[in-house]
Amino acid sequence: MDAAMTTDTQQPTARPSRTMPMAAPAVTSTSAAAAPTRIRLEHINAFYGQKQALFDVNLDIPDNTVTAFIGASGCGKSTLLRCLNRMNDTIPGAHVDGAIRMDGTDINSPEIDPVQVRTRIGMVFQKPNPFPMSIYDNIAYGPRTHKLYGSKADLDELVERSLRRAALWDEVKDRLNKSGLGLSGGQQQRLVIARTLAVSPAVILMDEPCSALDPIATAHIEALIDQLREHTCIVIVTHSMAQAARVSQRTAFFHMGKLIESGSTDQIFTMPKLDQTQDYITGRFG
Ligand code: ADP
Ligand code: MG
Repeated sequence: MDAAMTTDTQQPTARPSRTMPMAAPAVTSTSAAAAPTRIRLEHINAFYGQKQALFDVNLDIPDNTVTAFIGASGCGKSTLLRCLNRMNDTIPGAHVDGAIRMDGTDINSPEIDPVQVRTRIGMVFQKPNPFPMSIYDNIAYGPRTHKLYGSKADLDELVERSLRRAALWDEVKDRLNKSGLGLSGGQQQRLVIARTLAVSPAVILMDEPCSALDPIATAHIEALIDQLREHTCIVIVTHSMAQAARVSQRTAFFHMGKLIESGSTDQIFTMPKLDQTQDYITGRFG
């Protein structure tokens, strides 16, 4: 279901662009205490019809940091991720109470256009969802929709830069006019990430982005995530404890719609405050 929903309407920010070469998978779990809050969640309650899926979630999500959402299936991780870019608005009968403050503005407020929100907060799903068009056109789609470039040369440059940042350029530079659907699963996921990057989102949400990928493709995506956080705020849902430990600096543990504990990934994995967290991360539960 998730894979059917896509967002390619992000708008540019003034972030400097950089070429990001592929690096070895990062093993970084250091605390990111210095990073300023990018998104503040206040009293989030989410409902599907009568059924409540999230209960009074309060959480600060820092910039330039990877925050992992962990917890057993059905605990509300994807629901909360979808709150962050108003994607639950697209689900009939769903509604979300509470404030989601980004740069001081409550993006959950009815006055805020969800399309505008999604221009700033991109989403990557479990199953890679390239558009049925060329590699070049996949990347150019957002910039064309939002007229983010001047000349054709500008667009070419933006496409190349986005593919380089997604660590895909070298693999596709000779086949830009070929279909994005012809790429491997791992390449498709990097293509989708490049497509998201082409419109310079401030935040990238990833819902189990590696669960359809093999270990080598997973390592590529994890290395990429570590590079991307230099210029973005990243939130990743993962059911893999090992992945959360590898890629994130902050971790939030959920159980049955409640945020149980959050903190630095080091702290959550080595010294959780609550037995419930300990039981989950050691595999005794969930
Ligand atoms: P997770 O991502 O942690 O597995 P979800 O956010 O998908 O959890 O689901 C949280 C709860 O909300 C579950 O009980 C699930 O059945 C319910 N839920 C999720 N999506 C929908 C939907 N579109 N309609 C109704 N209930 C839903
Ligand atoms: Mg989910």
